Amino acid sequence: MHHMTLAEIARGLADKKFSSEELTKVLLARIAQLDPQLNSFISLTEELALGQAKAADARRANGESGALLGAPIAHKDLFCTQGIRTSCGSKMLDNFKAPYDATVVAKLAAAGTVTLGKTNMDEFAMGSANESSYYGAVKNPWNREHVPGGSSGGSAAAVAARLLPAATATDTGGSIRQPAAFTNLTGLKPTYGRVSRWGMIAYASSLDQGGPLARTAEDCAILLQGMAGFDPNDSTSIDEPVPDYSASLNGSLQGLRIGVPKEYFSAGLDPRIAELVHNSVKELEKLGAVIKEISLPNMQHAIPAYYVIAPAEASSNLSRFDGVRFGYRCENPENLIDLYKRSRGEGFGAEVQRRIMVGAYALSAGYYDAYYLKAQKIRRLVKNDFMAAFNEVDIILGPTTPNPAWKLGAKNSDPVAEYLEDVYTITANLAGLPGLSMPAGFVDGLPVGVQLLAPYFQEGRLLNVAHQYQLNTDWHTRTPTGF
Ligand code: GLN
Repeated sequence: MHHMTLAEIARGLADKKFSSEELTKVLLARIAQLDPQLNSFISLTEELALGQAKAADARRANGESGALLGAPIAHKDLFCTQGIRTSCGSKMLDNFKAPYDATVVAKLAAAGTVTLGKTNMDEFAMGSANESSYYGAVKNPWNREHVPGGSSGGSAAAVAARLLPAATATDTGGSIRQPAAFTNLTGLKPTYGRVSRWGMIAYASSLDQGGPLARTAEDCAILLQGMAGFDPNDSTSIDEPVPDYSASLNGSLQGLRIGVPKEYFSAGLDPRIAELVHNSVKELEKLGAVIKEISLPNMQHAIPAYYVIAPAEASSNLSRFDGVRFGYRCENPENLIDLYKRSRGEGFGAEVQRRIMVGAYALSAGYYDAYYLKAQKIRRLVKNDFMAAFNEVDIILGPTTPNPAWKLGAKNSDPVAEYLEDVYTITANLAGLPGLSMPAGFVDGLPVGVQLLAPYFQEGRLLNVAHQYQLNTDWHTRTPTGF
């Protein structure tokens, strides 16, 4: 039962082959048995799950239908869930029970999803390895000595290990696409503003975007359908109609213009990944796509710009966690300043503290123009590069990551080495564009992802290309040994 995709589950439930309650029990037992090897969950919500499963079965018995009605999922632990711990992977929020549901959580619950638990993540979504969590590192089910990617590493490891079919995640600089690539999943970062951020604990508000992590493009379409849409509670949510994503999957790729940026194939890219990217291009050519070399000349500036803008926004967003208004409070403070210092010093981990310091520095008087303002100008240049490229092509294709998943601990002493791994993903966040990573092969037994980028609100096009690719390849069907 645990091998079913969301689409297969929807068909099985509709055909009354099994109930949501039966499926939920199977998956909860599987999580209890296997998750100790992975550490992909921070909290399990068995009682909630069984209640939601029974309610979904009752709704079906009353004649209701829907692809998500009775579908088991999990939420990254930065989506607020009413009455349930929402830790953001941090000691700072270890005892925080959210007083309300995030819009994404409420929408998916209304569609009938069953919440099995809250998944592990890098602390405050900062990281590319899921090693900065207060609750310990997550292991990659393909090789437990390796990282699963971050920051949505818990969602990715759980779905890859078939503990559940799909999960929510968020992507500020790659945190949906990069763990998808590292664990052989399909992950979609929607256009900025497509999915509500209300109730999603903020890291860098102008970059954060929620989206689906699943095994197939077909499943991403189903989950995105339940997440997307205008939300008056989020002032950056965009009031555009949500298309039928599942209906977009079957379009022909005949004549689709795919741009491959020449800058992507620089020295930093593992040549074995480059080869797999070229293979995926050939596969899409067979399906009728036309390939064109393009250029994104400002790409080289994106990492430094991102690692100024994201920490700057983080330093502002995280100032509310001071032990007074929100978050962990230290024991026996001597005075107010001691309370602030120790609450934040004890509540935040090293990477979060590093980013708060970098961000506060970049925003301070005297340095603002030199760093923050400069970074914002680079951001516009990155966006302009994409706008020029999308005048010539419909999709941009390249690697999701320069290397496959590294060993746990390998980059712990060198944060910049970890930042450099985000080179292919962060440009989409800087520009606000939608991006998808799909499985495209293996290197040393570790999965490799190919990234597709599209113009604003063309999530359907990304899902279409990925689905057609998946109909003609079987990388996405490979399962890690032991799971
Ligand atoms: N690795 C990037 C960072 O650490 C992106 C994280 C994310 O997308 N949440 O900021």
